[in-house]
Amino acid sequence: MIIVLKPSTTNEQLMNFTSMLKDKYNVKVNKWDGVQSTVLGLIGDTTSIDIEYIDAQDIVESVKRVQEPYKKANRKFHPDNSVIKITDTVSIGDGSLNIMAGPCSVESEEQIVAVAKAVKKSGATILRGGAFKPRTSPYAFQGLKAEGLELLKIARQETGLPIVTEIMSASHIELFEDVDIIQVGARNMQNFELLKELGKTNKPILLKRGLCATIEEWLMSAEYIMAGGNDNVILCERGIRTYENFTRNTLDIAAVPIVKRLSHLPIVVDPSHASGKSWLVEPLAMSAVACGADGLIIEVHNDPAHALSDGAQSLTPEQFDGVSKKIFALKNAMDNQV
Ligand code: PEP
Ligand code: MN
Repeated sequence: MIIVLKPSTTNEQLMNFTSMLKDKYNVKVNKWDGVQSTVLGLIGDTTSIDIEYIDAQDIVESVKRVQEPYKKANRKFHPDNSVIKITDTVSIGDGSLNIMAGPCSVESEEQIVAVAKAVKKSGATILRGGAFKPRTSPYAFQGLKAEGLELLKIARQETGLPIVTEIMSASHIELFEDVDIIQVGARNMQNFELLKELGKTNKPILLKRGLCATIEEWLMSAEYIMAGGNDNVILCERGIRTYENFTRNTLDIAAVPIVKRLSHLPIVVDPSHASGKSWLVEPLAMSAVACGADGLIIEVHNDPAHALSDGAQSLTPEQFDGVSKKIFALKNAMDNQV
């Protein structure tokens, strides 16, 4: 339930009203302060609340029920875009375009440092690299694990780029303490125990869309993290399974404007996993920016032919430089249009 308060509401009236709602109806009250008004979002079982009684209160401008099952992730509860601060100079959702770039897997210090330096030069603001890898085959390279996290930190030290890397188990959270953004991969989008544990941290979480997840299921996974008290969620559209098999997945580009309408959370797009083909990364990245994505996550490898994972969809640093130039030219053109 959403309650919009009149601009004339005093602090005391607000406190009394909020306490009454909590005591009488046993709900949580989420407050959002806008320039024009204050919006209260009620979370919990609101079925017994008499909407007419609320509407009749002096300080209430309007009241309506929210049908969607996600509340904290719902734009109705938080009309402004959420801005997720990563470092003093990098924020996601503030209107800028952030590119996360780097290899699928961290393979060695030389590799991750070289790629980090190259992508930074080409405009990436965040370094990606998998240390714990979710592979379809148990016989495939599983990642360098804890050592991979240490190598990412070396690359961060060398370049100043914050790092994003995937977590696969709640039991690893302590290992990720010094990571800037924790990625929840597509395969773990509905690992609810993991989401609940991440909700207890204050880390930015990059939540990838599940392979077969609807947008509502994806937003409900964001809700799990937020319900625990961590509002720092960034969504990532990375393609879904359809009957088309030319590409690895089908990029649901409409998810970008749909998520923007339904939620206040930032959304980035992963054209690498969406397509599985390096030559498709540029056009898909361009379409994501044109649709209003807050960022991109792109796989870049110094030697894609010998990559230990996802070489076919990885760009060389030179190719990434070309794609990045086009992406920023498009973003500038969009920002400067009259
Ligand atoms: C990845 O980013 O390397 C990855 C495994 O992605 P996804 O979870 O989208 O498949
Ligand atoms: Mn990958």
